[in-house]
Amino acid sequence: MTIRRAQRKEAEIIAGRLSILRTSAGVLIFCLLIVCFNYQIVGKVGGRSLLVLARRQHLERVSAGIPRGNILDRHGVPLNDPGWGAACVVFPQLAGDSEKVVKALEQVFGKGSVLLEDNQWSSGGPVRIAGDLSSQTAQALIALNRSGLEGVYVVPEERRYGPESLARHVVGYVPRNAYFDSADNVGQLGLERYLDGTLKGGDASWVGVVLAGDRSVFPGSSVRIGPGLLPPIDVRTTIDARIQRIVERTMDAAGVSKGAAVVLDINTGQVLAMASRPDFQQDRPDASIGLRDAPFVNRAVSAFIPGSVYKTVIVAAALESGAIQPHQRFQCNGSIKVGDREVKCTRAHGEITLEEALGYSCNCALIEIALKTGPEKLLEFSKRAGFGKLTGIELPEESSGYLPNGREMLAGDVANFAIGQGYLGVTPLQMAVFFRAIVTGELDRPTLLLPGGGEDPERKVGRPAAETSARSPTPRNGTTIMSQETSKVLRESLLLGTTTGTGQLAWVPRFGSAGKTGTAEVGEGRLPHAWFVGFCPLVSPKFVICVFVENGGEGPAVAAPLFGEIALKILAR
Ligand SMILES: [Zn+2]
Repeated sequence: MTIRRAQRKEAEIIAGRLSILRTSAGVLIFCLLIVCFNYQIVGKVGGRSLLVLARRQHLERVSAGIPRGNILDRHGVPLNDPGWGAACVVFPQLAGDSEKVVKALEQVFGKGSVLLEDNQWSSGGPVRIAGDLSSQTAQALIALNRSGLEGVYVVPEERRYGPESLARHVVGYVPRNAYFDSADNVGQLGLERYLDGTLKGGDASWVGVVLAGDRSVFPGSSVRIGPGLLPPIDVRTTIDARIQRIVERTMDAAGVSKGAAVVLDINTGQVLAMASRPDFQQDRPDASIGLRDAPFVNRAVSAFIPGSVYKTVIVAAALESGAIQPHQRFQCNGSIKVGDREVKCTRAHGEITLEEALGYSCNCALIEIALKTGPEKLLEFSKRAGFGKLTGIELPEESSGYLPNGREMLAGDVANFAIGQGYLGVTPLQMAVFFRAIVTGELDRPTLLLPGGGEDPERKVGRPAAETSARSPTPRNGTTIMSQETSKVLRESLLLGTTTGTGQLAWVPRFGSAGKTGTAEVGEGRLPHAWFVGFCPLVSPKFVICVFVENGGEGPAVAAPLFGEIALKILAR
C-alpha cells in the first residue's frame, strides 16, 4: 500500500470513527426515549397516572457542544487533533441549594476552587464547572451524584485541540470554552479567524432533563445529551500533514526557538507546510499571552530583513531591465567603495561570471549590478515580484512587508538594497513565492485552501470576513515576471550555491537542490537572521522550501543544513 493510500485510509478511519461516535450518541438517545415512552405507558407514580403527568412534563434543554468544523489537511486528517473529554455540569434547577453543591464540589476540586456566581445560579441553565476532567475526577463526581447530590453531572465534551495538533499558526485558535459558550465560539487567529463563518455553522448539540409540571425531575429521567442534526462543515486545507510534521519536528530538533519555514508545491503554488516558532498553547491560549518572544506571531507571514537571499531579486531585476547581460563578467577585489563608505566582500573573488557572483554571494558584483540598474528599475521589478504587498494567502495576519522609496535612495541606499540590507522587509512566504517564480517564470497567489474545501454550495455559509476579502491580493492567475533566459541564469547560479558556493550544507544527497543563503545583519549585539531559500529535487523540482531562523546566526551554517534535512526527509519516502 502506498503512503498516499495509507493516508487516505487513515483519514477514512478517522472520519468513520467520528461518524460512529455521532451515530452511537443518536442511538443512545433514541433508546432512552423508547425506555421513557414505555415507562410512561405502563408505570404509575404515587398513584397518579403517568399519562397525566406526561401531559405536563417537558424537556428542559440548553444548547451545549456548540458546533465547529475541524480544519483538515489535504488528505482529510484533522490538523487540530480533536478528541473527547469530560466536563462537570451543574443544573441549578435540580440542585436547589447552591451552597450545598459548592461544598460537595469542593470535596472533589479543592477548597475555594469552585466559583459559582449568583447570576449563573439564577439563570437556570446548566453551569459548566470544569472541563478536561481526569478519569479520577469524573469518577468522584459520578459517585457524588449517586450518593444523592442532585443536579451535578459528568457530560462528554469535544476537545478541539489535542497535543499532536499541527500548523498551529495556520489553524489559529478559538478560546477554551468555544464548545460551551457561544460568545467564545469566535476564531482568534489564522484559518479559525479567516473561516469563522464556515466553521461555526451547523446545529448545536444539547444537554437536557425532563421536568414534571412541578419542575421536579420526571421519574426515570436523567440528564440527556443530544447531537445537532446538521453537522458543522470541516474545511480542507492544502497542508500535507506528513510534510508539516517533518518541518515542525526538524525545526524543534534543531532547537529553532524563533523562526519559520514554508514549503510550496511548485506545480500548484499550494502551501504544503507552514510552521512558525515559538509555538503557542492552542488549548490554553491564555498561557501564551504576553510572553516575550510573541508566540502568536506567524513569522512565516511577518516581515524581516532578508540579507543576501534578496540578491536573487536584484539579479533578476537587472537582467529583466536589460542593465546587464547573462554572460557579463565582474571584478571583485574584496571590497567596493560607495560614496564615502567601503563595503567588504567575504573574500576577493577576482574575475567572476554572473552565476558565480550570485552563487558565491559576492557583495562587490551585486552592488555594481544594482548601481548600474538604478533604484527605479530595481523597485519596479521588486513590486512586480510580489514584494511590498500582500500575497493574498488566506491568513488575516499576513504582512505586506516594505520596500524603500526609490526617489529618496542615494548610492549608499542602493548598495544596501543590493545586499538585502537597510529599509527592507520581506516575509518567508513572499520569498518562497518568488523562488517558485524562478522555476515557473510566473508569480502566483499562494493558497492554503483546496478548491471547494471550505464551501458548502447548499448551505451558503462560509464567506470569509469582509475585512479580508476587501483587501487586494496579487492576481490569482499567474503573472509572468521573468523570461526563460533570466530563469535559466538564476537556476544555474542557485545550483552553484549548493554545489560550490555558500549553500553547500543545503545539498540533498541523491536528489540534489539549488538555492540561496542569507545572513541579515540586524544591529550591534544581536545575532543576524539566517535564511535559506531553494528548491528540490534538482531535476523536475517539486518543492520550494524557505527556512528562516530569527537571530539564528549565519545562513550558510544555520539555515542551509535545516533546508537540507527537511528536503531529504520530504523526498525520501
Ligand atoms: Zn566578492
